Amino acid sequence: MKKTSYLSIAVLLLIISSCTKNNLTGKSQLALVPEKEIQSLSLEQYKTFIAKHEVLNPAKDANAAMVQRVSNNISKAVQRYFKSKNTPEVLNGYNWEYNLVKDSAINAWCMPGGKVVVYTGILPVSKNENALAVVLGHEVSHALLQHGNQRMSQSMIQQFGGVALSVALANKPAQTQDVFMRAYGVGTEVGFALPFSRKHELEADRFGLIWAVMAGYDPNEAIAFWERMENISNGQKPPELLSTHPSDATRKKKIKEYLPEALKYKGK
Ligand SMILES: [Zn+2]
Repeated sequence: MKKTSYLSIAVLLLIISSCTKNNLTGKSQLALVPEKEIQSLSLEQYKTFIAKHEVLNPAKDANAAMVQRVSNNISKAVQRYFKSKNTPEVLNGYNWEYNLVKDSAINAWCMPGGKVVVYTGILPVSKNENALAVVLGHEVSHALLQHGNQRMSQSMIQQFGGVALSVALANKPAQTQDVFMRAYGVGTEVGFALPFSRKHELEADRFGLIWAVMAGYDPNEAIAFWERMENISNGQKPPELLSTHPSDATRKKKIKEYLPEALKYKGK
């Protein structure tokens, strides 16, 4: 047997042994990097990002206060959800923090571990708290669904043959950080982060609507929000959020399908 075949088998075995069951979807997924390691790397990147940005003070800035309020309601909804499913341990390692940063990019994200960042650039597009709840519900879902971990795992296999994160970090720190930043979309340049797949986008939409409803917001605003996103991109460079979270007719159709399910969670 050729050396490459042995290597392929080794990688295949690694993939099989690294498949875990997702806490939300119940589906099997590739998660090569332990969630704990992802959270600690996330925290490092988050601290670096925050140190480089102006964070608006919620005591002095009404928009920053709004971001705190909506994020807090979403995270409480998520906590209630997992408690009701008798799986509160899903949120182990989550220490929620919410920030509005002064940055004209149309962007927002949530890191595994519950670190939420909203850019001021998205506020003219979100326009109201219902849409902000939809955006935050969506971003929090990407973290909870471990989409970044799945993307990072795929890249780690492609680039490093699937070695452990600690080994990759020790041997190739720059490339490993790069893989992480692309997988999690924390790069500040448009086109730096990988776009989420359609499957991941729809999963994040579906659960994001549930959190928004549980948090007391109107999920119908989701359609109007994605339409506003598409309209600003006409003729201009696409907004950062749209480059990593592609939107199209299928998405809007699917959101309409998800709405009745989400609305069942009203008052829960
Ligand atoms: Zn997304």
